[in-house]
Amino acid sequence: MRLLLHICCGPCLLFPIKRLKELAMPVTGFFYNPNIHPYMEYERRIEALQTVARLHDLPVIYSEKGYGLRSWLQSVAGNMDFGKRCLGCYEMRLLETAKHAKVKGFTHFSTTLLYSRYQNHEAICRIAEEVAQKTGIEFYYEDFRRGWQEGQEMAKELGIYRQAYCGCVLSEEERYEKRRLRLEKGLRPDNP
Ligand code: SF4
Repeated sequence: MRLLLHICCGPCLLFPIKRLKELAMPVTGFFYNPNIHPYMEYERRIEALQTVARLHDLPVIYSEKGYGLRSWLQSVAGNMDFGKRCLGCYEMRLLETAKHAKVKGFTHFSTTLLYSRYQNHEAICRIAEEVAQKTGIEFYYEDFRRGWQEGQEMAKELGIYRQAYCGCVLSEEERYEKRRLRLEKGLRPDNP
């Protein structure tokens, strides 16, 4: 078994890589996230990932497609609402991971998106199974959400950058709009 693990960011990698190492699974990371905006945020998340990868001696392939604002916008055009646009966003990243896995001789693919409590876990699994059917690369599933708290604590201890929004420019707007509304109601903001 050779696993190519799609990595969305450093903090979300911490628990899954600990777990996969416990299982002695040969893992290579794959960074392809055209959904992260703006450019400096993209760079910041890569830096955090590099810190975690060094710590775990994890080889990581960075997609040669790089920062993908335009391709991401095209993929969600006409479907901008939260929830709906996320389906295309998951599909885009998982399909690229599985295709890359196929070309490079990996047997399985998976994703650190399975760690997040804030993602649509069921949709990710469904789309990953569809991608597996299309590409012939098996999807490795594990519910990494059980390590949520542990992963958060590891990220704090390491002092790596922990983002306040999912990734796309729309999620950034939603995040800070929610914050503004809380402040207007006299509530404490739930995040800086
Ligand atoms: S909110 Fe997150 S998952 Fe949804 S479209 Fe934006 S970046 Fe992708």
